[in-house]
Amino acid sequence: MSQNSLFWFRRDLRLHDNRGLEAALNSGRPVIPLFIIDTGITDDLERDDARITFIFNILREISGKLTNAGSSLRILKGNPADLFDYIIDKWSVAEIFVNEDYEPYSLERDSVVKGVAAQKGVSFSSFRDHVIFSPGDILKKDGKPYTVYTPYSKVWLAEYQRSAIEGRNNTGDVTSVGMTPTADYLSRFAKGGEPCRCDSESHGFKTSQLIVEPYDLGDKLLLEYEQKRDLPWVRGTSMIGPHLRFGTVSIREVAARAAGMSLVFLKELAWREFFIQILFHFPHVVTDSFRPHFDRIEWLNDGLLFERWCNGTTGYPIVDAGMRQLNQTGFMHNRVRMITASFLSKHLLTDWRWGEAWFASHLLDYELSSNNGNWQWAAGTGCDASPWFRVFNPTLQQKKFDAHLRYVTEWVPEYGTTRYPDQVVDHSMARERAILAYKAIMHKT
Ligand SMILES: Cc1cc2nc3c(=O)[nH]c(=O)nc-3n(C[C@H](O)[C@H](O)[C@H](O)COP(=O)(O)OP(=O)(O)OC[C@H]3O[C@@H](n4cnc5c(N)ncnc54)[C@H](O)[C@@H]3O)c2cc1C
Repeated sequence: MSQNSLFWFRRDLRLHDNRGLEAALNSGRPVIPLFIIDTGITDDLERDDARITFIFNILREISGKLTNAGSSLRILKGNPADLFDYIIDKWSVAEIFVNEDYEPYSLERDSVVKGVAAQKGVSFSSFRDHVIFSPGDILKKDGKPYTVYTPYSKVWLAEYQRSAIEGRNNTGDVTSVGMTPTADYLSRFAKGGEPCRCDSESHGFKTSQLIVEPYDLGDKLLLEYEQKRDLPWVRGTSMIGPHLRFGTVSIREVAARAAGMSLVFLKELAWREFFIQILFHFPHVVTDSFRPHFDRIEWLNDGLLFERWCNGTTGYPIVDAGMRQLNQTGFMHNRVRMITASFLSKHLLTDWRWGEAWFASHLLDYELSSNNGNWQWAAGTGCDASPWFRVFNPTLQQKKFDAHLRYVTEWVPEYGTTRYPDQVVDHSMARERAILAYKAIMHKT
């Protein structure tokens, strides 16, 4: 039987400018394209999770292109290690190709699959794809990881310019033209196979009514980004988060678009990679504070107050608007994410992990590294965190970033009426209380 290469799609759901896929297609063997519904991840999600619906919509597009080329996308469900044990033999796989994934769960999973493959004499090759620089690429002179963003970003930007000049981070390979893979490229996929069932219902899920919006990387958005990105009532940001998360866009394309237009936008991409490398080098942050002494804070953890925060009825309009935007759309503006996160951890003195989990289950662009990093930043417990004694004043933030209440009235229509609730805490009292709680552990340390 002829031998095949296998490409396993994960956070790289596209046929163009995909490093691991290109390597598979250049292997000289027919390539079997595979997507696995990893039950280790999906078992914890709601059946109508909008991110699953988004994934199936993309898989349907990919599958259509492959079917037109006489091939087919395979979709399997289960534990990847068990599945590989079976499919390596069944599909006569000689080499498995993937793109690197730096999350602790994925590293563990890949190491197990690699072991299964090795036992069968099959190689497992992985490629850097969803980042400009992988966690080991940018280190301090002493070889240790950066824990402060500013020096990291300076090196990131300098290295980005250098790599772009050398062509290492350029987009588009010789086998694809823009977004449309060429016929020659598509002809290298293995022929035949059953057309895949690319609807979420066939795999035990329900279609969500929430949709992931298309992203905007147009000239206007990028040129005005610096000026508008902090205003929650304007469409001033790209909405590219879910697309980067699931790889429907190539990070190299995104960075190249931003490079000539908006340095501030490019620096946001560096923030993303800063937190990816923090999670990789300091995996304890998944459960603990980056700086362990902050785990001694005596949180209030009042369940009823947490509920008021979750459903956007704290009596602080900008906080409530943000939470309602999140609950209704799966998106919250970055400035408001900072305000709501600070409010929960400081004003309500609630463990940042509670808020992190709420965001994780609701954000369409949820990314463990960015969510965890930013929550710890807001709570003052993380690397390069906002200082523990800085407590955002939600009223001043609202005046500064939503002076005419456009954002607030969009999401909190009853604001200004008797139906709008009183404030759950007094700002000055809550601020003092938070500072005392943080100070207490600083003294103990
Ligand atoms: C408490 C909190 C939780 C967050 N959780 C997430 C999360 O789960 N997933 C996520 O992608 N971002 C998260 N962010 C960062 C940021 O809010 C979102 O990336 C951004 O709002 C997404 O909208 P956009 O794509 O329109 O962003 P744009 O402003 O258009 O930025 C473009 C891209 O740059 C990256 N980026 C921008 N700001 C940041 C940042 N502060 N940290 C890391 N990357 C950044 C993202 O990939 C983003 O999509 C969080 C921020 C806070 C304060």
